[in-house]
Amino acid sequence: MAPVEGTYDYDLVVIGGGSAGLACAKEAVQNGARVACLDYVKPTPIGTKWGVGGTCVNVGCIPKKLMHQASLLGEAVHEAAAYGWNVDDKIKPDWSKLVSSVQNHIKSVNWVTRVDLRDKKVEYINGLGSFVDRHTMVAKLKSGDRTITAQTFVIAVGGRPRYPDIPGAVEYGITSDDLFSLDHEPGKTLVVGAGYIGLECAGFLKGLGYEPTVMVRSIVLRGFDQQMAELVASSMDERGIPFLRKTVPLSVTKQDNGKLLVKYKNTETGEEGEDTYDTVLWAVGRKGLVEDLNLSNAGVTTFKDKIQVDTKEATNVANIFAVGDIIYGKPELTPVAVLAGRLLARRLYGGSNQRMDYSDVATTVFTPLEYACVGLSEEDAVKQHGADGVEVFHGYYKPTEFFIPQKSVRYCYLKAVAERTGDQRVYGLHYLGPVAGEVIQGFAAALKSGLTINTLINTVGIHPTTAEEFTRLSITKRSGLDPTPASCCS
Ligand code: FAD
Ligand code: NDP
Repeated sequence: MAPVEGTYDYDLVVIGGGSAGLACAKEAVQNGARVACLDYVKPTPIGTKWGVGGTCVNVGCIPKKLMHQASLLGEAVHEAAAYGWNVDDKIKPDWSKLVSSVQNHIKSVNWVTRVDLRDKKVEYINGLGSFVDRHTMVAKLKSGDRTITAQTFVIAVGGRPRYPDIPGAVEYGITSDDLFSLDHEPGKTLVVGAGYIGLECAGFLKGLGYEPTVMVRSIVLRGFDQQMAELVASSMDERGIPFLRKTVPLSVTKQDNGKLLVKYKNTETGEEGEDTYDTVLWAVGRKGLVEDLNLSNAGVTTFKDKIQVDTKEATNVANIFAVGDIIYGKPELTPVAVLAGRLLARRLYGGSNQRMDYSDVATTVFTPLEYACVGLSEEDAVKQHGADGVEVFHGYYKPTEFFIPQKSVRYCYLKAVAERTGDQRVYGLHYLGPVAGEVIQGFAAALKSGLTINTLINTVGIHPTTAEEFTRLSITKRSGLDPTPASCCS
């Protein structure tokens, strides 16, 4: 029987204890609501599972950044010799030690998260939630089913990696959900997919001494500025990461020696090929976790395994909202999920009217040479403002610290995409080089505040940094002048 209006167990039940759900639940409690947060992780096909905190903490940003850092450290150790350190040139990483350090950190974050929820008086329920009606949910717990009623629900269930629909994909392949806790070295790895996850994982695997190959179905980093995306791919190729272009996998089989035989096909020529690998990593995108929710019981409609919301994160059912990766058509990033979740709670319980602004969100692809950007790509700026309305300032640059170890500066490049006339409002900033996220974060605030080219080039740089290169931009693409710097200090 449906609960009587006004007699619910909670004001708010949040389904999903990841970045979006936790931020929303904690903010709602701070604004006086009685809140429960359900979180449940289904194991991967090979049995990997994890604790509360969602994708970012357990199988996303955090372990990825730590493995990226491990790979950068390996590079730095080799550079150290050129700087006068006596370094044993036979150093190699210990995969199992790396995995256990990463997993220990994650477990400590899981623990802190639970303590934080208890301190903030959010009731944490370790159960899989599914709707009975628009005010009622059943949580499947280890101890049995529990029925929970609430005035309001926030769906923050995120997504999980997809597997391609080919023989052997699920039996023999792994995804990013398994990689960061893999109990053996990945070895020679086929990374299928050239989005964020594919490129980042291939990047750190190479840095750790393994042999990744990236299989690209169409283009690299779809949705990103394609000049920058191709520079990212070239910088990886220069480090010895091969790209199999216009290629899709056909099947995976396990050979008697334990190696995985992958058959594949070139989509342009139709030519088929095969190779053997120790690991096949699917990085072919993620799907929203709508299936278990029984959304039809609550009347919530879905769209391509996601949920469509309005500008207040409301679904088509008045008391049900959705935030984070599960919503359709918005950036799937942790800071987006956190801010959207927090603002939603403030609107629901804090009397706020502030809505989430999903535009001009800065992001970084943590490849060996990192790429960060904010605002429009060059092609989107041209689409929106016309080729005659857009000016692109660009330049290659040479990070000071690259000289002594003679690191390649070939792909250290940045550009500002701007209005062509008037105040020359900056539409987008793109940077390929070291510590890209750290460089772009501050510029993102400037761009959101209406940055112009005039302000940018009249900002005094901090020398010698790579971020200062944005203040030194003077060459436009349209001029055809050589964007390679002659000197660094004058
Ligand atoms: P999630 O964090 O996925 O949380 C959803 C939670 O709900 C999960 O714990 C899930 O198990 C649970 N759940 C699902 N269904 C139910 C149910 N029916 N009942 C109860 N619980 C349920 N973003 C960045 O900003 N920077 C990065 O560097 C970055 N790196 C990434 C690297 C990888 C490998 C991946 C996979 C993602 C990365 N992301 C990164 C993206 C980021 O992790 C996500 O955008 C973010 O975690 C989304 O948060 P969320 O709360 O929407 O979903
Ligand atoms: P993406 O959607 O970014 O990339 C998926 C890739 O897989 C594309 O190259 C796609 O090719 C390819 N692909 C899809 N299906 C197939 C198939 N059947 N066979 C071969 N290739 C296929 O997904 P990711 O999983 O990389 O990342 C998901 C999201 O997670 C990102 O959008 C991002 O928001 C978030 N994330 C953020 C990170 C960060 O902030 N640094 C890091 C990692 C993830 P095609 O272009 O042809 O479709």
